[in-house]
Amino acid sequence: MESQEINMQAKRMSNIPFSGIREIFEECGQLEARGKDIVHMEIGRPDFDTPEPIKEAGRNAISSGEVHYTSNYGIKELRRRITEKFESDNSLIYDPEEEVIVTSGATEAIFITILSLVDPGEEVLIPDPHWTYEPAIEAASAHPVPYQLDPENRFQPDPDTIRSQITVDTSMLIVNSPHNPTGGVINKQTGKQIRDIAVEHDLVVLSDEIYEKIIYDGIHHSLAKFDGMFNRTITVNGFSKAYSMTGWRLGYLAGPDSLLDAIIRLRQYTSTCASSISQHAGCRALEGELHKPLVDAFSERRQTVVNRIEDIPQIDCPEPAGAFYAMPTIPECADSDRDFVLSLLRQEGVATVPGSVFGTAGNGRFRIAFTSPIDRLEEGFDRIEHWIENQ
Ligand code: PLP
Repeated sequence: MESQEINMQAKRMSNIPFSGIREIFEECGQLEARGKDIVHMEIGRPDFDTPEPIKEAGRNAISSGEVHYTSNYGIKELRRRITEKFESDNSLIYDPEEEVIVTSGATEAIFITILSLVDPGEEVLIPDPHWTYEPAIEAASAHPVPYQLDPENRFQPDPDTIRSQITVDTSMLIVNSPHNPTGGVINKQTGKQIRDIAVEHDLVVLSDEIYEKIIYDGIHHSLAKFDGMFNRTITVNGFSKAYSMTGWRLGYLAGPDSLLDAIIRLRQYTSTCASSISQHAGCRALEGELHKPLVDAFSERRQTVVNRIEDIPQIDCPEPAGAFYAMPTIPECADSDRDFVLSLLRQEGVATVPGSVFGTAGNGRFRIAFTSPIDRLEEGFDRIEHWIENQ
């Protein structure tokens, strides 16, 4: 009997599209298959290998039989090291027994936090532009409500803009610093203003700090540290960026046990636990300063990107203070960010991402990731200049 195709999807899936970056990846793949040389400035993952001591710890975990399910919270040793990190880096004291959950990447941490804390119909404030928080919010049948970051103020969140978006249905505020896609870093004053808003409106804050270690200008302010924030903040972090461990799928979240109680119940039924092997490797990552060479390399690349953007009068953006992204305006002669990015890719072989992929505030901008070596970034900017000259 011929089997019939069945088209089925939950209604909430209609608000969960394929990622806009996919179009660029697919186009790159096709162009490369035809032999075109592409300068990759689109990929949001470090191009470095994972530091050798971390890989060795992973291999040792396999050799010594650490190949089974772990606690839903994660192995004790890693939770202990994570709490030590919070104490030394952020002056935050968490109980490793019940205030830290190790996850399969920050992505899972964000998903289970939203799904277990936000009710259907509630509103979740997200930065605009932003990384992809909406799918988790839509999966919870809640509503993402963007608040614009201020390009005139190095992409700081503007407190008045946040306030103007709050309604009786707002239950959570998502904050991301250092920020993908702009490289913005929240300063102390903004942190305090966010605290005032969260306390005044009794909001839970999800603070995505995955780029914490990659800072060029200023210092990282962990939001949970501000007065009155500990009990209402879930801090999300992970190993993907600072240790170039995207494929190991390792992240974590920390917060008061009153909030983690719901999250851990859901966590039992998502991926059960993060890979035991990755967790042992993660313990090694948190020993010493293994992220330093990578951060130093990003810092050099960032200087190249800043200098080259400054030299091109047709594009403009505030200097990124952290992460490994810059988000300049598109040249005036381009029709839209999508048209510009596709034309740059097809004509010059430079892959970037249209700003509108990251939300309405990204319209008219494009994201550059410094995830290629300096000579390739220089080549990419030569080609961007060539594109502009030829218009
Ligand atoms: N949060 C932000 C701001 C990101 O840019 C990313 C990845 O690009 C993630 C979270 C997810 O990271 P992970 O690889 O740990 O799932």
